[in-house]
Amino acid sequence: MTEKTRKSEAEWRRELTPEQYAVCRLKGTEPPFTGRYWNTKTRGVYACACCGQELFHSDAKFDSGSGWPSFWEPLATEKVATEMDGSHGMQRTEVLCGRCEAHLGHVFDDGPRPTGLRYCINSAALKLKPEPGRDR
Ligand code: FE
Repeated sequence: MTEKTRKSEAEWRRELTPEQYAVCRLKGTEPPFTGRYWNTKTRGVYACACCGQELFHSDAKFDSGSGWPSFWEPLATEKVATEMDGSHGMQRTEVLCGRCEAHLGHVFDDGPRPTGLRYCINSAALKLKPEPGRDR
């Protein structure tokens, strides 16, 4: 089991940028094609912007055309949690950090092989840690 990170809303508000707070704690969505990572091809690991847990590897990142960083799988299933989200008149599956419950984005079933999944994630919820090796 992952040890959970629990902080008060006041602590999160103090530690995060206004944009990170709006996305991660208030479940906001950054406008497409505006975030830091939607078109990033740098090799590395994408960690949670709130708690630092490693979430996705660039090897599973693909160009979805959506304007948000998109991945076909997390680093491990327990790195993320999912919840049904019926907001905005849609039935979607919300993706959260498995450790601090930051809102990351949503997962859809129209992704590429091998999983067929598309984790559509806000750049504001991520922090890229570059790794040596070939960029995509
Ligand atoms: Fe987190």
